[in-house]
Order: sequence, then structure tokens, then C-alpha cells
Amino acid sequence: RGDRETVIGTMGVLDGRTALVTGASRGIGRAIARRLAADGAVVAVHFGSSEAAAKQTVEMIIASGGRAFPVHATLGAPGDAAALWAAFDAGLAAAGLDPGVDVIVNNAGIGRSEDIRNVTPAEFDQLFAVNVRAPFFIVQHGLVRLRDGGRIINISSGVTRIATPDILAYAMTKGALDTFSLALAKDLGVRGITVNSVNPGIIDTDVNADWLRGDEQAPAARSAASLSVFGRVGQPQDVADVVAFVASPDARWVTGQTIDTTGGSAL
Ligand code: NAD
Repeated sequence: RGDRETVIGTMGVLDGRTALVTGASRGIGRAIARRLAADGAVVAVHFGSSEAAAKQTVEMIIASGGRAFPVHATLGAPGDAAALWAAFDAGLAAAGLDPGVDVIVNNAGIGRSEDIRNVTPAEFDQLFAVNVRAPFFIVQHGLVRLRDGGRIINISSGVTRIATPDILAYAMTKGALDTFSLALAKDLGVRGITVNSVNPGIIDTDVNADWLRGDEQAPAARSAASLSVFGRVGQPQDVADVVAFVASPDARWVTGQTIDTTGGSAL
């Protein structure tokens, strides 16, 4: 795996590793992709629809001396995982890299549903298709590629910890993801593979832009101080740095966990 000379600087803890980050065209996924690349991993930057944004993530990584390539697959339909891995395999081959993966980060997700009175069956199904079924089958198809000692990291949410009836169906998808991490960790431990959830609180990304800055927001929500004990809103980097630790060799003894990354807030 001879491409590390393109990585500038000291040895990274993920040198020689390959990582897949889903939904890495923006937001938390982009920050994770950039951080894992900074740690030395070759990063497959998965995207669903925004090819230009995904290419921007790749260019940011390359500009920083890292290695990355884009991987396209629309998640939420049967066959999505197979399509994703086919694109991943092709991207690796095109880059002249060995087949296989060391870190799988299931970050792509959709969120924020209405309360139970307003959720349609179609919305419910789409939430579960993208947030639960896609990670499940991405891992199922990825297992033949995932090397021993690898990492599976599911980006869940702090909403699994508290009552959030206004986003009930979304919270349920993340609860399912946490159960996935818990049980799969036991299955894969024999191979030295860890499986964990990282559970962010409110993070300043596009999905929260209206809520954080919109006119209609409640005064309590407008106060950044109310969203964490640090007096500021969480940033994608705050999550990416925790993911980087979980992905690192130092986290070998951490598995089956849900790691709250909420700035000390309830959410
Ligand atoms: P975002 O909307 O900015 O990014 C989500 C990414 O997933 C995008 O790149 C998008 O293209 C991709 N994606 C969504 N649906 C897809 C589909 N059907 N097919 C392919 N790609 C798809 O969101 P974000 O805030 O960066 O959130 C990332 C993850 O973190 C999500 O799983 C989200 O549930 C979770 N999370 C976010 C927050 C927060 O406050 N932002 C809090 C807790 C958990």
C-alpha cells in the first residue's frame, strides 16, 4: 500500500488504513473524512446526490496532503449497499490501492420527523431505510472487505437518551443503530473489530441551520449556552475528533459502546 508519501508530516495513526465515510459531502461526515485523512487514512468520500460537494471534500483532503476518492450511492433502496461497495471497489482499484477497508463510518442519515400525529408511513419507512437498513446492509456487504482489527462506527444521536416526542421516529432509528452496535460488537470481537456508536448532541450543520438561526426558534434554543455546558454550539469537528479516537488503535478495548458527544448537554 505504497501511497503514503503523499501524506505530509509525521506518521499518522491511520497510515496504511482505508476508511469509508458515508454522507461525507458536508456536515459531520465531511469533518470525519477530513480528520481520518489527516490521521493518514485513504478516505472513500461517499455521497448520495451532491457530487460537487463530495468532490470538494476530496479536494480539501488532497490539498492537505491526504488521499481520498469519491464514492456514489443513493441510500434508502434495496441494493444500495451493493452499489456503494461496487463503487468503493472501483475507486480503490482506480487509485491502485489494495482491496479492503479498515474503518467503516455510517454517518449518512436523515432526520427530524414530526410528532407521532403527523408522521406518514412513507416518511417512517424512509427514515428507517436510510438511517437503519442502509448501515445494516453496508456492514453486511462490508464484512468480507473489513480487515481484522477494523472499526465500525455508527453515527447515532444523543436523542436516544432523552424523551424527544417531537422527533420520535428519528430517535427510534438511532436507538436501533445503538442496538446494532451493541450486538454486532459481540459478533465481531473475535476478529479484533470494534463496533461503536458515537452520539452527537446538537451540531451546527445544515440540518439545524433554520432551527439555530431561524426567526421562529424558541428563545431558549437561540441561546448557544443552553445547548452545551461550554456556552457554544457543537461543531462537526467536535464529533470528528471523537470518531478519530474510536477509529485509532488506542481505542482497541472500546467496543459495543454508545459514546455521548453532546458537550455535556442533555441533548
Ligand atoms: P447533513 O444533512 O449535513 O449530512 C448528512 C449527509 O448524509 C449528507 O452528506 C447527505 O447527502 C447524506 N445522505 C442523507 N441521505 C442520504 C441518502 N438517502 N443517500 C445517500 N446519502 C445521504 O447532516 P449532519 O448534521 O452532518 O448529520 C450527519 C449524521 O449525524 C446523521 O446521521 C445525523 O442523524 C447525525 N446527527 C446529527 C446531529 C446534528 O445536530 N447535526 C445530531 C446528532 C446526530
